[in-house]
Amino acid sequence: MGSYFSNKMDDSDIQCTLCSKRDIPNAAVIWCAVCDEKLCQSCNEIHKYLKISSSHEVTALDVYKKLPTFISSLKQTCDSHEEHFKLYCPAHREPCCYKCTTTKHKTCHGFQTLDSLIEQSQTQFLDLECTIDELNINIETVFNNRTAALIELDDQVLDLAMHIKKTGEKLREKLESNEKEILQQLSVVHSKYKAIFENTVEELQTMKAEIKSLQKNIEEMKEFASEYQFVLGSQEIRLKLKKEKDNFCKYFENDHQLSQKNVALKFTPGQILNQDIFLGTLVVEEVACEIPFKKNASLEAAFPLDIFQNIESVKMHTSSQTKILEGKVTRNLAGCTFLENDQMLLSDWSDNNELLILDKQGEHLRNIVLDKKAFDVVYVGNHCVCQ
Ligand SMILES: [Zn+2]
Ligand SMILES: [Zn+2]
Ligand SMILES: [Zn+2]
Ligand SMILES: [Zn+2]
Repeated sequence: MGSYFSNKMDDSDIQCTLCSKRDIPNAAVIWCAVCDEKLCQSCNEIHKYLKISSSHEVTALDVYKKLPTFISSLKQTCDSHEEHFKLYCPAHREPCCYKCTTTKHKTCHGFQTLDSLIEQSQTQFLDLECTIDELNINIETVFNNRTAALIELDDQVLDLAMHIKKTGEKLREKLESNEKEILQQLSVVHSKYKAIFENTVEELQTMKAEIKSLQKNIEEMKEFASEYQFVLGSQEIRLKLKKEKDNFCKYFENDHQLSQKNVALKFTPGQILNQDIFLGTLVVEEVACEIPFKKNASLEAAFPLDIFQNIESVKMHTSSQTKILEGKVTRNLAGCTFLENDQMLLSDWSDNNELLILDKQGEHLRNIVLDKKAFDVVYVGNHCVCQ
């Protein structure tokens, strides 16, 4: 395609083709579709009265300029043979001249004359307009759908962003107050057990000093005291020692007195710091499009597209019924075929050895007698049947 498009000149310098050939600069005013020439006023006068071109329909150049470029630049003559296009090649989807059918298009089939195409153009235009209507309606529907979807997407994202920010703020607030609270608790726990521990250490310090002094007393007594002093003195020391021992043993009676106080957090913050998810995970859910393609009813009626139906969609129904009344003959109808004239041929799988012919409405017309019975029958054309 494309070879039958001529180069459209700039609007401003469209010159009369005939005058240009004689180097006369004359602005063109009309365009002849048949000659594919742009002519000035005076050349148009000649063109109008010449026998060969008097029937040519011309278009004012102003109108010609209004056509889309791909339409106005359509060529009307064949470059190879300098003849007017008369045919249309459906294989190449392009117009051609008669001579082309022996050259470029010599293997092509199904040529249509441009005249016949022009005759059909009325319905083709209707087809195009219907298709445009159909597309317009459907594009509008999908356009509205997508525009709404865009707004909804924006809204959703904005809502989510706000939600994430708010939740983040709340979490930070919670975290901060939690931090303060737990530090406060920690300080309380610290003070409490620090006091207990310090108290114990102090008691033990006193105990150590007391024991040391008693030890010193014993050593001094051993060296300097009389036997009398030793007896009474050691009784005194024994009493003091017993008191110290009793005091000391109290630490072991009370389980909690010497227990270590390990302060720890039940919930380990380290674990949560290894996570990347605090505010949730984003999920994009895909919802199938529910918009059906609306077919243009007038387009359907004029140009039915669904000629080929799915076998499942074919519904059987009885359009006519017939009773074959022939006395008391028993028939065993097994096969059926249609003849070219829409008559129906039935095979009778019984000893009647006959084929039955019915008309379009199912009325029994006549029988064909066979030399033996036929199970099935098929029409093979050319007025012949096979049994
Ligand atoms: Zn001219
Ligand atoms: Zn012409
Ligand atoms: Zn040609
Ligand atoms: Zn062709």
